[in-house]
Amino acid sequence: MTRHRVRPEEKAAGLDPPYEGGVLDARLAPVLEDLRERSLYRVRRVVDGAHAVRMRVDGRDCINFCSNDYLGLASDPRVAEAARAGFARVGTGSSGSALISGFNAEHRALEEELADFLGRPRALLFSTGWATNMGVLKALLGRGDVIVADELNHASLIDGARASGAEYRRIAHADLGACEHELQQSALDRRFALLVTDGVFSMDGDVADLPALAQLARRSSAALMVDDAHGFGVLGARGRGTAELLGEEPEVLVATLGKSLGCAGGFVAGSQVLIEYLIQRARTWVFSTAPPPAMAAAARAALRIVRQEPELRARLHENIERFVGGAQQRGLPVERRAVATPIQPLIVHDDARALVLSRELMSRGFWVAAIRPPTVPRGTARLRITLSAAHEPEQIDGLLDALAESLRALP
Ligand SMILES: *Cc1c(COP(=O)(O)O)cnc(C)c1O
Repeated sequence: MTRHRVRPEEKAAGLDPPYEGGVLDARLAPVLEDLRERSLYRVRRVVDGAHAVRMRVDGRDCINFCSNDYLGLASDPRVAEAARAGFARVGTGSSGSALISGFNAEHRALEEELADFLGRPRALLFSTGWATNMGVLKALLGRGDVIVADELNHASLIDGARASGAEYRRIAHADLGACEHELQQSALDRRFALLVTDGVFSMDGDVADLPALAQLARRSSAALMVDDAHGFGVLGARGRGTAELLGEEPEVLVATLGKSLGCAGGFVAGSQVLIEYLIQRARTWVFSTAPPPAMAAAARAALRIVRQEPELRARLHENIERFVGGAQQRGLPVERRAVATPIQPLIVHDDARALVLSRELMSRGFWVAAIRPPTVPRGTARLRITLSAAHEPEQIDGLLDALAESLRALP
């Protein structure tokens, strides 16, 4: 097949890679056309250089308000230096799965430090948070079991649960009554049930009521699994996450190294038995190349900073308060929540309006992503604004003014 060079008009139309007329393309092209008509077509923006607060995107400078780099560690020179030294010492790849030849002393040290930080017996390192959820859920559940899951849970939890073959019982967001009902029903049927929730909901920024959920689980002899991708490193006096903040430890805790730690990878923390079981059975772990040891070295450096510099979390929380307070002063539709998290949605409902707003903000030098279905439910398109410890107060004020002006200018 000859390679077709992408023409500028094709690129502009989103036909990148180009439509070439094969059987598959004929099937896919109308879907793309439909997405475009409904303002649901997605394109990538290209970042040049560091993924920091000030960044260069598609050739222009802007201030980033949509990353998950809550502590600014993705561009911290100490973390980058740990990665560089790790690559120099160990090389690039781990060369095998962890059970064959890929398990490095850096991996083991990171697992031990994560377990120690979280006050858990063990932790197990995966390549990504996505792979962690897929591997853990498929290993823990099978046909005949029940999974009780909040409707706003992350996509990886949904896919992992589906792949497990367990019966999926979706409950309305934060509906404790529905949760209790499903758990009691499973107990009556003598079926094993796993209650699964995000710690901090990724598109809404609210926090799960872990004490209430844990109590419901205990009463029905169900297990509780929490995905704390957005709470880990951020919430709690020591940064241990939603569980620390709310004083409730779930049996299974999952998080990512790609958000507050500014690295890449995922992990699960829990009992000796849980981790040993996953080592035997979690297919995304058993049959996947272990992550680069240098990335583990970088994550260790990032974790050390999380432990030793609580002032980073303090600054993040000051920034969140500055944003929420400033939004309320300006009459912006931003809720003040009981628990402040770095994820602050500004719901605009309509998909096209969300896109227009996001473009308008970009023209003013602020990068805020428009989040549309299927990432969020229909009719709840939003700007998802995220705060970082690395933001300066003036940048937050600037964003607030730009938001107020852009909203006023909307038709
Ligand atoms: C980002 C995220 C994941 C996936 O983690 P990755 O390391 O990015 O694959 C899982 N769960 C939640 C709640 C997330 O926000």
